[in-house]
Amino acid sequence: MPRQIRNKIISKSGGITIPSDIRREYTSYLGGEAVDLEIQDGKIILSPHAPRCMFCGSIEDIRKFEGRHICGICITRMAKEAKSSD
Ligand SMILES: [Zn+2]
Repeated sequence: MPRQIRNKIISKSGGITIPSDIRREYTSYLGGEAVDLEIQDGKIILSPHAPRCMFCGSIEDIRKFEGRHICGICITRMAKEAKSSD
């Protein structure tokens, strides 16, 4: 897909409207959904919200436990730690 660049004005309160044709094409941005903002090399990258591990910040192999997100690696590490402290 060719790179698309649009000019938008940021409101005084920091808001920006995503053009409707983009929202229709990328349904993760229809409205009411959480998004992640990532700062990289002076640019802001907007992407659909991905749950992150509350311990390491990973977005891989995320599971929900007691309302919190934890990755498989941290679960394994916690299980080993719990066994070794017996
Ligand atoms: Zn983790």
